Amino acid sequence: MKLKTKLTLGVGLLFLLIVLLSVMGSVYINKLKSDTEKILNANYSSIEFSKNMLLALDRIGSDSAVAIQEFKKNNQLQEKNLTEFGEREATQSLNLHFNNYLKLPNNEKEKLIREDLVKIMTLNMKGIERKSDVAIITAENATFWIVSLGTVCFLIAFVLLFNLPQTIAEPISQLTFSIRQIANKNYSERVHFKGSEEFNDLAESFNVMAEKLQEYESSTLSKQLMDKKRIETLVNNMHDAVIGLDENHFIYMINDEALKITNLNKEEIIGKTVHEVAVNNDLVRELLKNMDHPQKDPIKIVSGHKENYFEQDVIPINIVRTGEKEKKYIGRVILLRNITPFKELDFAKTNFIATISHELKTPISAIKMGVQLLENQKFGELNEQQKELVKGINEDGQRLLDITGELLNLSQVETGNIRINIENCSPKEIVQTAIKNVEKLAEQKNISIKTQFEVEDSDLVAADFDKTVWVMNNFLSNAVKHSFQDESISVKVEKYETSVKFSVSDTGKGIDEKYHRQIFDRYFQVPGEHQNGTGLGLAISKNFIEKQHGEIGVKSSLNQGSSFYFLLPLV
Ligand code: ADP
Repeated sequence: MKLKTKLTLGVGLLFLLIVLLSVMGSVYINKLKSDTEKILNANYSSIEFSKNMLLALDRIGSDSAVAIQEFKKNNQLQEKNLTEFGEREATQSLNLHFNNYLKLPNNEKEKLIREDLVKIMTLNMKGIERKSDVAIITAENATFWIVSLGTVCFLIAFVLLFNLPQTIAEPISQLTFSIRQIANKNYSERVHFKGSEEFNDLAESFNVMAEKLQEYESSTLSKQLMDKKRIETLVNNMHDAVIGLDENHFIYMINDEALKITNLNKEEIIGKTVHEVAVNNDLVRELLKNMDHPQKDPIKIVSGHKENYFEQDVIPINIVRTGEKEKKYIGRVILLRNITPFKELDFAKTNFIATISHELKTPISAIKMGVQLLENQKFGELNEQQKELVKGINEDGQRLLDITGELLNLSQVETGNIRINIENCSPKEIVQTAIKNVEKLAEQKNISIKTQFEVEDSDLVAADFDKTVWVMNNFLSNAVKHSFQDESISVKVEKYETSVKFSVSDTGKGIDEKYHRQIFDRYFQVPGEHQNGTGLGLAISKNFIEKQHGEIGVKSSLNQGSSFYFLLPLV
């Protein structure tokens, strides 16, 4: 049976019985009330009247008129209150005997009156007895029914009290326990309720859910194991070295490439912290050092008589757990990207560039010389068109010479063949030499170059004169290139505590801030600008300045001009 039906039946029946009990109680009480009223009205009054008449009869000798009056009054009341069988006849006889007595009073007649009065009293007392018996029976009936109904109510309430809470509470506590089991991943948990249909349905639904979860768990577990195997194989077959650390720096994963380059054995490191492993391993120590401050320069590792180059990357792993909102750090992965093939190609390219630019320099210089000879009037007069052509060839030759010069510089920088010759140089001289080199270029765009020296003549910097002039030159030619017609460029030299700052500022187009980091990279040119350059000038400048223990940088924003600067140590 349904729990709802059971509850409705039990409580409904109880309610009905309570209503019945109260109706019956009030009916019986009313009945008892009317019984008592009947006794009082009908019989008790007649006895009272008879008693009064007896008393009046006793007083007739002494106070005749009042007593007779009293007797008659009570007799009249008695005549109106005839309720018992035989009472009418007794009252009529009393009337007759009293009238006879009034005519001629004597003891004999008085005696008859008394007998009549006693008879009336006796009849009424019997009436009281009979009616009292009826009332007793009514009271007994009332007691019987009230007790019976009360007992039934009590039994129903008792059954409900002891059965209902248990019927509801027990399945709920059983269900709570089972839900906890499921939450603890004990998916084999099942519930079985006896009794109401609703709880049976609930148990059935719960069991279906648990079964599905169990099925899902077993299927995902094998899938997860398979996925794990796949990922492990993938990571092991990577050419990059991978080391996984948990949040407490314990190594929980390391691939074959990482084992190969670190010369480590898998069994002896899994479960150890990276700090423990670093004690006896130089490379791991180096990786650990770079972990919080990743290095830009590649790491060179010699393995199997071959130089290998790796780029270190540290990837933090942050996850959001199920049911949580905040991201939680659970470890990191050290990735050593194998860039050896790129490095090899880079070396090959650098060597190729060095050879080509070196080989090209002589023929280009020869062409330039030839052109200069052509311009010499000793070898004949050129017409205007020929002069234009020779001028063009001369400019192109110069550009080719500049490019080959830059490429040669770059290849020297990359191969480490650069020779820096540090001496005490005058900042003023550096700037003036560089300005001289770009004067012609600036004139073509009617650009003036202003200088501002905030150094003493005696202030010298420790620098390679030629290389610094080269850098200054590059800054100036860039400023001219990117300035508009008729503008001006300012060169400022300021003295700092331990260094001298050289800056070249223009009012040209400027450089978007997002490119500032890349501007000193090799071959980088701001996208969308079609200048005939190589993108090497600033990269070489950076290298030259850093090799001289200086610092290089740029301050610029779009449409507000640029200011390139470098600092060199003060002597
Ligand atoms: P190149 O000038 O040969 O292209 P550089 O390394 O000297 O190479 O410059 C790299 C890039 O930086 C240039 O292509 C240009 O886009 C940008 N740049 C350099 N100087 C300035 C400047 N003064 N104003 C605006 N852009 C500049």
